[in-house]
Amino acid sequence: MVKGKVCIVTGGGRGIGRTIVETLAVNGAEEVYALDVSDDALQGLPDNATGAVVNVTDPSGIAEFVQDVIRRHRRIDVLVNNAGITRDAVINKMDDEQWDQVIAVNLKGVFNMARAIGPEMMEHGSGSIINISSVVGLDGNMGQTNYAATKAGVVAMAKTWAKEFARKGAAVRANAVAPGFINTPMLETVPEKVIEGIRAKTPLKRLGEPQEIANLVLFLASDLSSFITGQVIRCDGGLVV
Ligand code: NAP
Repeated sequence: MVKGKVCIVTGGGRGIGRTIVETLAVNGAEEVYALDVSDDALQGLPDNATGAVVNVTDPSGIAEFVQDVIRRHRRIDVLVNNAGITRDAVINKMDDEQWDQVIAVNLKGVFNMARAIGPEMMEHGSGSIINISSVVGLDGNMGQTNYAATKAGVVAMAKTWAKEFARKGAAVRANAVAPGFINTPMLETVPEKVIEGIRAKTPLKRLGEPQEIANLVLFLASDLSSFITGQVIRCDGGLVV
């Protein structure tokens, strides 16, 4: 489905990002670059995937990496902005550090990646950018002012890039995916009682699996979605219906 495409996935070492890397690789990508903050998470990748230690908060590290990929492949076809963190607290207990850290990775990190790669896609004449948002960015969530703000922000950025990067006839698309609650290490900090509550109010009565998000990303990365841009697509078991 993504035969011959050069793909970049941030936060590709574990969780949803790792599954996205493996899914793009197994579906024919020429090369999938998995970016993460530590080398430990980047072991055991498929043959047509390459790990790179690139922190999305570091514009000069990103620029160096992008130049290297362009030198090797002459283009970047797919960018998945997946890296994300949580630092939860109700607003009166949320300190500046919690706010700043989440903004730096989830919002500015996405900006840093697209600023470096969007123009390359425009120049090449095509590309697909997929921002991993969250239902929390669409519906809000107790204790997640910082996270919710970033996840709403990446939807707005995808809509903006759908317009900006498609100028001059370039077939560059930008969309956002809004997962519900997905079975990954990110949920380890969420109390079991809360998880039980989420299961109970989800029509499908379970959490999602990383593969279910990766399947949607695969579709948006592929030419099967060639007329879809500027959209946010929920993948949440019907959590809000
Ligand atoms: P995860 O298991 O915590 O994985 C996130 C990955 O991103 C980790 O490998 C992490 O590396 C990496 N990362 C963190 N900061 C980074 C940085 N500055 N630069 C590069 N990589 C960085 O999270 P996940 O559950 O797979 O979530 C993936 C995305 O889906 C996130 O954007 C998240 O907000 C979104 N999402 C998740 C859920 C869910 O229920 N899990 C629901 C909705 C949306 P380290 O582990 O080494 O720090």
